Amino acid sequence: LDLYLPDRRNSIGHDLGEPGVPEALFDAMAASSRSIRLATPVISGRALSGLRLPVLNPATGAPVGMVIEGDAAMVNMAVEAALVSQTDWSLAGGDFRADRLERAADLIEAEEARFLSLAMEEAGKTLTDAIAEVREAVDFLRYYACEARRHFSRATSLPGPTGERNELILEGKGLFVCISPWNFPLAIFLGQVSAALVAGNAVIAKPAEQTPLIAAAAVEVLHRAGVPPEVLHFLPGQGETIGAALTSHPAIAGVCFTGSTEVARIINRTLADRDGPIAALIAETGGINAMIVDSTALPEQVARDAVASAFQSAGQRCSALRLLIIQRDVAEPMIEMIAGAMAELAVGNPADPATDVGPIIDAEAREAIAAYVAEAEAAGRVIARAHRMTGRAEVGHFVAPTLIRLDAISDLRREIFGPVLHVVTYEGDELDAVIDAINATGYGLTLGLHSRIDAVAAHVAARARVGNIYVNRNQIGAVVGVQPFGGRGLSGTGPKAGGPHYLLRFAEEKTVSTDV
Ligand code: GLU
Repeated sequence: LDLYLPDRRNSIGHDLGEPGVPEALFDAMAASSRSIRLATPVISGRALSGLRLPVLNPATGAPVGMVIEGDAAMVNMAVEAALVSQTDWSLAGGDFRADRLERAADLIEAEEARFLSLAMEEAGKTLTDAIAEVREAVDFLRYYACEARRHFSRATSLPGPTGERNELILEGKGLFVCISPWNFPLAIFLGQVSAALVAGNAVIAKPAEQTPLIAAAAVEVLHRAGVPPEVLHFLPGQGETIGAALTSHPAIAGVCFTGSTEVARIINRTLADRDGPIAALIAETGGINAMIVDSTALPEQVARDAVASAFQSAGQRCSALRLLIIQRDVAEPMIEMIAGAMAELAVGNPADPATDVGPIIDAEAREAIAAYVAEAEAAGRVIARAHRMTGRAEVGHFVAPTLIRLDAISDLRREIFGPVLHVVTYEGDELDAVIDAINATGYGLTLGLHSRIDAVAAHVAARARVGNIYVNRNQIGAVVGVQPFGGRGLSGTGPKAGGPHYLLRFAEEKTVSTDV
């Protein structure tokens, strides 16, 4: 196997076990929380005014800052400006653009407290998750910068007959619309935007409704790092209005979207029905992610990895474990151990360092998950819940981690985007039926496997139609350049974020053949 080793390093992060480190981070964040936070539409560098709406902390309901949402007239303004500027940006070359991404990565690291506090207060992240979020964002910037130097800085010479020169050139497609989710409001936002930009596209970025502030801060940094304001525009707002106006615009060349499968379908339809050139859709969506545990697995390791995969980030990751599939003869002690580990989890406000599981993003999402759990409870299927709270449950949108027993894999029909884990059992001779049932969900994002038998791991890995397989470890937290991330089928279109092929999907290829 070839080792692909680009010339860069992932960020280092912090050792929270080191005395004084968490305290210093909380102090730095407190200073940053006192600043005024406002997200406005930014078109060609100009902040536009309008009605101010509060952005709320999901753990407390308290305002974190204000947002001014964009409107349809602003969409047209942004598109026009972006189209004028895109050619020069594309012609400036990969090295020029990569310099700007790397500068932005340095700035974010230097201003880390600002981004950590926004991730915690606006998105309800724990400190551990917030640190990982900022690191991933910085890693995306440096990784795509490195990839752009490789692909977009010079033409590739191709062979031809004597007297003919053949070159293959990569250039931006035109204008990309980036629509990002609230669950990684910095990392995925910047991952999408920086990839589209560095490949030579102009970008209009629409952050998730719930998390415009951290995205606005990221855009401000990109502009300060030298990304021309005419090339990168920012339009916070609702999906139904701004998102719809952007994706139906005939002039756009592509959409990069992370969110639900349902919305990806709507975007796909909108793109197909509009006038103008056929636009690219890069979509990363949900999953019904399973973990298979056979009788050779180490129970303590399974408990640790299942609990982390299902409940870290309150289960609000596309990659999160939803369905634990355990070989029947070892299932009961394993489930008991998992229930024991769940009882140790503390749910509450991430501002309390003892919190393991933070809030659900908003009231609507919380209600939907709570209704689902109540239904399972009424059916007598709930077998464990985490009851410890570090704060007051009544003020934030909290759901206690819950374990639900199912009879069959096919009983889980949709993704529940929260801290809810389902468990089913299988007989030792049913492994292929288990793999078929996982494939039959139509989703294909992450799959965990716990087995000490190499042949079982190879067998599962070869047959599972998923994007990311994790053996004898947790199945969340894909690392940029190490576990390129993304699925297939109902889970997305690919290419994999943080992987060596990602930028190519944002580009057009051109050959120039010259008689010399
Ligand atoms: N890349 C993240 C992970 O591996 C998940 C991204 C998402 O939830 O969209 O956990």
